[in-house]
Amino acid sequence: MLLKCHNCGSEADFKIMPKEFVCSVCGAVNVVPQISEAADEPLSCLAPTGFEWQLPAGKIGNPVFGFKYITAQGTQMTREEYLATFKIDPEVALQFMRSHRGVKFGRNM
Ligand SMILES: [Zn+2]
Repeated sequence: MLLKCHNCGSEADFKIMPKEFVCSVCGAVNVVPQISEAADEPLSCLAPTGFEWQLPAGKIGNPVFGFKYITAQGTQMTREEYLATFKIDPEVALQFMRSHRGVKFGRNM
C-alpha cells in the first residue's frame, strides 16, 4: 500500500495500512483516509488540522479490555500505535494536560 505524504509528496510503502503516519522524509504527520479497497495509485494523505495534532484528545476503554486514545484528528489508537506514530506516550500527555488545564501547547513542547 503506497501512501503519499501531503506535505512533500514522497511515497511510503506500508504492508499494513496505518491510521496516521509520520513522513520519514519531511516529518509531517499524515492522516490516512480510511478506505476499504486497495487502490492502484498511491493514496494521498491529509494534513491534520490545528496545532494540537500530536496530543491525545481523550481516552476511552476500561482496564479489562484496554484503553484507546483518541488523537486530535479523531482516530482511535492503542498506546502502542500512538507511541509509534507520534513518539509521545498518550498517557503521560493526558496527565500533563490535566495538570496544566487551559495551557496551550505549540508544536515544540
Ligand atoms: Zn513528507
